[in-house]
Amino acid sequence: MGLRVAEWIGENTNLVRNCPGTKNHICCGYKTIDLIEGCILSCSYCILKGYINSPFLKINTNVELAISQIREVINTQKDHINRFGTGELSDSLALDRRLNLNRPLIEFFGQERKAILELKSKWADISHLKGLLNPYTVISFSLAPQHVIDSEEKRTSPVRKRLKAARDAQRAGSYVGLHFDPVIIYDGFERDYEELISEVSEALDLKGVIWVSIGLLRFPPKLMENFLVEGRRRLLAGEFIRGEDGKYRYLKKERVNVYKMLYNLLKSKRDDLFIYLCMERADVWKAVTGIVVESNQDLISLFDERIKLFYGG
Ligand code: SF4
Repeated sequence: MGLRVAEWIGENTNLVRNCPGTKNHICCGYKTIDLIEGCILSCSYCILKGYINSPFLKINTNVELAISQIREVINTQKDHINRFGTGELSDSLALDRRLNLNRPLIEFFGQERKAILELKSKWADISHLKGLLNPYTVISFSLAPQHVIDSEEKRTSPVRKRLKAARDAQRAGSYVGLHFDPVIIYDGFERDYEELISEVSEALDLKGVIWVSIGLLRFPPKLMENFLVEGRRRLLAGEFIRGEDGKYRYLKKERVNVYKMLYNLLKSKRDDLFIYLCMERADVWKAVTGIVVESNQDLISLFDERIKLFYGG
């Protein structure tokens, strides 16, 4: 697959940013490292299609600049351990064997030991990173039933390979993150997720899974148009409502039911898993988990506790 590269961004770019979150929904205080904008994997529901109107990838190879900006954030926010990730505006691993942008980041986080780097991916290739991995890099995979991957994530790695790469990352000294996101509701999805979660618990050492997120399908109006034009019946097979942030989501009652089902399935595999809801409202948090999470700061504090458990301090 040839790369179509738009531009190499200059010296004054902000490469490290706060995750923009979404209006009136609870955000986890994540920091993004945006060296690549755009993604070659082209999942049908990818939210980037609603925002990035270019067939080109924007790549910035100035990792030194990103590292100096990360250092500044770490030094000015010493009250807790920050989490940074490269998987917001692209996939963290899909191009990495070719571009080699993660190596200096992994080395930096491993030496500093003051913050956590998360590489989030649907591309199961970490073999070029194995000798470098350390607990300060979390290798995360998004997971979905295989036939959702076959229809909506056609260019990505099969789920079996993602789980094998996650297991390899654990063996190489990293913690692992899991993201069940986006969960799509269709006939029989409950059975598929039950099987998927069993597969996960057999493939991985759940003690070394630092966090698990669950997020249901949500998308801006521009993507609704794409789904209709492309005839994506599975993605449209639910009842949607526009949220305060303008995005379409499943109805609240439906979301709560599905979250509860997945939350309980995951907890049945290991009761102390740290599970969070991605971009949800306080009332949904409470209904699903029984935990009161009313602000971003509440969620950040839960992450801080979890990180202390893994890293001490
Ligand atoms: S892997 Fe992630 S960033 Fe890439 S197309 Fe799929 S959803 Fe978008």
